[in-house]
Amino acid sequence: MSIFSAIISRDIPADIVFESDTIIAFRDIAPRAPIHLLVVPKTEAYANVVELAAGDPALLAELVAVAQDLAREHSDGEFRLIFNTGANAGQSVFHVHAHVLAGGLTEGSLGGE
Ligand code: AMP
Repeated sequence: MSIFSAIISRDIPADIVFESDTIIAFRDIAPRAPIHLLVVPKTEAYANVVELAAGDPALLAELVAVAQDLAREHSDGEFRLIFNTGANAGQSVFHVHAHVLAGGLTEGSLGGE
């Protein structure tokens, strides 16, 4: 079970900001922007965004729409959407998730780090 599945099943706590039948979103435990949310499909079937895009493009589109809604709710509606894909790109949890960064982002910065 991935750490995100443990959040979905409430085996470990998280600050959950959105939940539907298919998607959950919660605050990143180590925020790198004033608003730093993780948007996660509940299924563990896809390790990264490439697999999700190939396997269930409608779910990827749903995830992007949730990211937009959350950026509006928590900030000014503008946001950076990051999918780290592969360990060498900084991915540490192999259950597909989008980072939604918003609020006071450094101009021109790609990763906010
Ligand atoms: P990535 O490095 O792209 O795989 O992103 C994984 C993210 O999950 C990191 O930004 C971590 O800070 C975050 N994270 C890990 N464990 C937790 C947790 N228990 N609750 C919230 N965020 C977490």
